[in-house]
Amino acid sequence: MWQPFTEEHTQFRKTVRQFAEKELAPHAEEWEADEMFPNWVFKRAGELGILGAHFPEEHGGQGLDYWFSVAKAEELVWSRLAGVNMGILVQSDMATPVISDIGTKEQIEEFLKPALAGDKIVSLGVSEPAAGSDVAGIRTVAKKDGDDYLISGSKTFITNGTRADFVTMLVKTAPERGAHGCSFFLVPTNLKGFSVAKKLKKIGNKSSDTAELFLDEVRVPRRYLLGEENMGFMYLMQNFQTERLIAAVGGVAGSFVTLEHTINYGRERVAFGKPIIKREVWQHKFVDLYTKLEAAKAFTYKCVDQYNEERYVKKTPLSMETVKLISMAKILVGELVSEVADECLQFHGGWGYIEDFPIARIWRDQRLLRIGGGTTETMRYYLAKLMGF
Ligand SMILES: Cc1cc2nc3c(=O)[nH]c(=O)nc-3n(C[C@H](O)[C@H](O)[C@H](O)COP(=O)(O)OP(=O)(O)OC[C@H]3O[C@@H](n4cnc5c(N)ncnc54)[C@H](O)[C@@H]3O)c2cc1C
Repeated sequence: MWQPFTEEHTQFRKTVRQFAEKELAPHAEEWEADEMFPNWVFKRAGELGILGAHFPEEHGGQGLDYWFSVAKAEELVWSRLAGVNMGILVQSDMATPVISDIGTKEQIEEFLKPALAGDKIVSLGVSEPAAGSDVAGIRTVAKKDGDDYLISGSKTFITNGTRADFVTMLVKTAPERGAHGCSFFLVPTNLKGFSVAKKLKKIGNKSSDTAELFLDEVRVPRRYLLGEENMGFMYLMQNFQTERLIAAVGGVAGSFVTLEHTINYGRERVAFGKPIIKREVWQHKFVDLYTKLEAAKAFTYKCVDQYNEERYVKKTPLSMETVKLISMAKILVGELVSEVADECLQFHGGWGYIEDFPIARIWRDQRLLRIGGGTTETMRYYLAKLMGF
């Protein structure tokens, strides 16, 4: 049988699992209440090689394949802190791959290496108050001023945004050209004119911080332009696939844990003289959910395999076929994770509605998967275009 994982992956899994269970999970209540996890989490994840395993060694990583990132996302779910996992994955799989792909030697030294070591915290700054799904509609502008750019505008929903040291940010350099007028910049947050406008209060993933950012003529030197001017949208479309794929992998893994936890609950909870798990109606429901999850896992692994082959073996941009499959995985897993969480909450009865029970938090946290990194509707919109309907 096809088996993508080696003994090395298994060892790495153990490291991540221990980190999640022993160093993160015990702080769940505190960090959820604080609506923020502490900065040492990034540093510790960097020390353990959790952030950079799948990046080239010359970029500060360990030069391993993408299955290491999969192993990481699958084991991090044992922290039972979706917000912390999101903050870590932004650092390792969402805001940094594009720097590795197109960054200059200097940008890799100044930004990527410290990020993978956990010494600098990074955010991905794409969404804006008036443009989320419709990325080409962003309004933050970078105007040339001598050898520099002056960036003005705002970004919202930015994960790690209240404490990031720099933001991998998409802005307009030629507003009249729509999607063909976007560029990526690496924007240090200590520059004059940069401010955190607001920390947003969320319904889930509370242990992560999410911010609205404001930029008032922030002077950014030309050396912080990432890749070519006006090619940002194309780079983003590649980068988005990494974000969506790792979100799908984590979603499937998290749902398996949710099911296991819920079924254990059903062995203890008695109604009408029997543990509720002994009711056939629920047994069949759980059989169906496991079946769907196994199918989703197999499909997601197919996406990972193609992604790994193209990016890591052939070292080419992702093909449209892989982009298509990853978008499908994002829809499939986003909706399935919601279904699992909803059924599991129902199985808990009234206790599922009470905050002391983990399923209540799981139900709120998972909802993001159908929204963040591209909504399921937007995925369908792009897929319909891609498939030529
Ligand atoms: C907790 C959290 C963390 C996030 N982290 C980040 C981050 O770190 N960096 C970042 O840049 N962004 C981040 N985001 C933003 C996220 O990616 C956007 O919220 C998402 O892309 C949707 O954009 P929007 O919220 O503006 O919704 P809108 O674009 O306003 O969409 C509203 C509704 O319209 C629907 N819709 C839009 N277009 C179409 C269409 N063509 N066809 C059918 N329906 C459509 C959508 O599906 C949705 O239901 C985060 C969001 C949240 C909630």
